[in-house]
Amino acid sequence: MLLCERDTPLLISDVEVFAPAPLGRCDVLVVAGRVLAISSRPARGEPPAVSEQLTPIAGVATRHIEGRGRLLVPGFVDSLVHIGGGGGEGGFASRVAPLRAEDALKAGVTTLIGALGTDEVTRSHADLLACARALAAEGLSAFVLSGSYRVPVATLTGSVRGDLVLIPEMLGVGEIAIADHRGSQPSAAELARIGADARVGGMLAGKRGTVLIHVGDAAEGLRLLNEVSDSTPLPPSQWHPTHVNRSRALLTQGEAWLRRGGSVDLTASTTAGLIDAGEIAAAQALAELLAAGLPVDRISLSSDGQASLPQFDAEGRLIALAVAPMDSLLQSLQQAVLQHGLSLENALPAFTASPAAIWGLSRKGVIAPGADADLLLLDPQTLAIEATVAGGQLHLF
Ligand code: ZN
Repeated sequence: MLLCERDTPLLISDVEVFAPAPLGRCDVLVVAGRVLAISSRPARGEPPAVSEQLTPIAGVATRHIEGRGRLLVPGFVDSLVHIGGGGGEGGFASRVAPLRAEDALKAGVTTLIGALGTDEVTRSHADLLACARALAAEGLSAFVLSGSYRVPVATLTGSVRGDLVLIPEMLGVGEIAIADHRGSQPSAAELARIGADARVGGMLAGKRGTVLIHVGDAAEGLRLLNEVSDSTPLPPSQWHPTHVNRSRALLTQGEAWLRRGGSVDLTASTTAGLIDAGEIAAAQALAELLAAGLPVDRISLSSDGQASLPQFDAEGRLIALAVAPMDSLLQSLQQAVLQHGLSLENALPAFTASPAAIWGLSRKGVIAPGADADLLLLDPQTLAIEATVAGGQLHLF
């Protein structure tokens, strides 16, 4: 339910802010879709410093949320969502519907990167872009990627560089599939060319030009990325491999990739069947990587939302096709903190500031003056979402 238009100032008072660094109890003022100011509340027992507290401007209608006893964190930045609908790998009946804005807002996802997947025949970049613009009309920050699983890459304008330079919403390329029977088995040289085009197109457009790599379940794992990094001047940070928690062997390769300067993305949506088959839940994988001393600023979680999740019986027959839900990021944050014992400030960057930096979105993933007003009000015990602010618009649940 939309309760506050973008142009109505919003004051969230006396709320415990994790920006994602802990700022303590603050007042946060949102104006015209951005965080205008944050002021610290005095510690308990100290005399109130009235001048340091934000007061609504006289004569300007302001919506006020009393945030006492609540947590305020940045909205989630989701590196991979099939916003136009994924799937299709089980025939036409397995095509998944496009994402509804409400499903993202309820799940706390305020910024999302939309991608095609296996199917670039019945799915197109024009449709992907239209879906992103429809979501943006509802307050979400929706971006898209050039390319699909396939090499040579499918594009909107005829080239990766053209897409990145000419289409504001196009942030990078992906998911390009490697180590997967559904991919087009690119060579290191082909992959390097894509990375170079994304890099230069990104430079010309003032974007980071990150290439999202779908890593399948073949044993070679990240071999191609290591080969390209060994043999070209492209740095490991050019690439963002996803599904790195799909097996123990791949997660181990992901650790080495992080150590050589790369980043990894962990897929939060999973099923009991996938966990039985060796996938490591994203919250657990995050806890393990942080315990190993790896840097959270190069680790992100994504929902893979609206992808199809096939379920097989003991004989390997397809028995059901579920849709990857958008709320898997929230569930993973809750699991990371409440079950795996990570502090909120240690876990939160992987859902917010880290993916924002990996995609070059400087006003996303943080609560700071000048940042976009993408905020979540959380229950401090359960970390359930009580309100989502997306682009300055308030939605209560
Ligand atoms: Zn994928």
